[in-house]
Amino acid sequence: MSLHLYNTLTRRVEPFAPLDPACPTMYVCGPTVYNYVHIGNARPYTVFGVLADLLRRRYGALKYARNITDVDDKINAAAREQGVPISAITDRFAAAYREDMAALGIAAPDVEPAATAHIAPIIAMIERLIASGHAYAAEGHVLFAIDSFEGYGKLSRRDPEDMLAGARVEVAPYKRDPGDFVLWKPSTDELPGWESPWGRGRPGWHIECSAMAEAHLGDTIDIHAGGVDLQFPHHENEIAQSECAHGGRPFARYWLHNGMLTFAGTKMSKSLGNIEKIHDLVRAHPPEALRYALLSAHYRQPLDWSESLIEQSVRTLDRLYGTLRDLGTIEVAPAIPASIEAALDDDLNTPAALAEIARIAGEARKGVDTSERERLKRELLGAGLALGLLQQTPAAWFGRGASNDDDARIQALIDERITAKKVRDFARADAIRDQLAGEGILLEDTPQGVRWKRA
Ligand code: AMP
Ligand code: ZN
Repeated sequence: MSLHLYNTLTRRVEPFAPLDPACPTMYVCGPTVYNYVHIGNARPYTVFGVLADLLRRRYGALKYARNITDVDDKINAAAREQGVPISAITDRFAAAYREDMAALGIAAPDVEPAATAHIAPIIAMIERLIASGHAYAAEGHVLFAIDSFEGYGKLSRRDPEDMLAGARVEVAPYKRDPGDFVLWKPSTDELPGWESPWGRGRPGWHIECSAMAEAHLGDTIDIHAGGVDLQFPHHENEIAQSECAHGGRPFARYWLHNGMLTFAGTKMSKSLGNIEKIHDLVRAHPPEALRYALLSAHYRQPLDWSESLIEQSVRTLDRLYGTLRDLGTIEVAPAIPASIEAALDDDLNTPAALAEIARIAGEARKGVDTSERERLKRELLGAGLALGLLQQTPAAWFGRGASNDDDARIQALIDERITAKKVRDFARADAIRDQLAGEGILLEDTPQGVRWKRA
């Protein structure tokens, strides 16, 4: 079997074939960085990260964009509350997000476009939409006219009334139709804003993704993915904007949506406040177990997060690393078993792939001869590789307690130093750097934030 994916656009599992087999393209909606991201946010990045790895294996290349939303009313509210510019909020939480992703073994995308770095292409796209009669300016706003696009609703398959209810649309006097959505809105002097043909203002959320996808991946992309909560209105609006700005050419050929991670049955979400931050979880549990837990359900199903799910994942990894330890220190090159590729080809069936890992480990525990042990070790490591698991040494996995506590302490000091610098308490910041230097810990400022290593 070749790779098959469930396409929300057609509501069918379809064989995947990229437009350009030399380089498939994929866009995943990234987070709005005004706080720490939660473990639910990691679900799309984990499963679609597994897909990204698979596509790179199959096609030898991939262009994968995962954006950062760094201009948004929630960011403005946080900046106002804390009396800092929005960049103080977005820089801090974008760095924390990248650290959290790295801790969960989620590889960085090829491009990580930020909305504020794409204001010119956003304005250009809005101008094209106005020129082609799909958008109109009114009272400092620019709105997309949904009745100008026949395909509006084709992704979520909602009728217009449901769409209005689902979007909790703002009825505003400047809208021709209550379903019309904002492409550009005016900013008061205190709010972040950019000069535009419609006055000083800022972009709406939906247009950011359309413009960034166009800038980095072109008019038509192979895969667009995100959580099912984004299907409407966000993805529906992205389709409307992009297809109307591109003379009707299709925007994304395959739309993938992950199910929600829930907590006691309710969607985990910042606005409900029932969140578990990755930042905290990775300090309390082995991050690999969190990754295992995220992959334990099929991505389209809901996944209920709990302590017992984490504990179960730790126990399973204990067993798998125990098997690897028993297989000895012989060095082998990992080889991804065909059965694992087949499970992933089946619409990213990660639970089936994990069951297959358990089966291979079970076989390895049966006390087989040396050549069999080598084969099984190769397969076990290869299966792990396809899922971003089992890449530590058994010694590192089992010895994690001691070093984890120390790592958490060091990270806490680094975080404190970042805060000290923000509030211009340089004496405290220097004292922390000196203390860490005294312990042989070297700090390094990188575009991804502060990294540290032992000298
Ligand atoms: P947001 O910052 O809320 O726009 O979310 C970033 C990404 O995380 C989007 O792809 C969302 O669909 C996804 N997401 C948010 N909450 C959850 C959840 N509870 N379970 C799974 N995915 C989620
Ligand atoms: Zn988006």
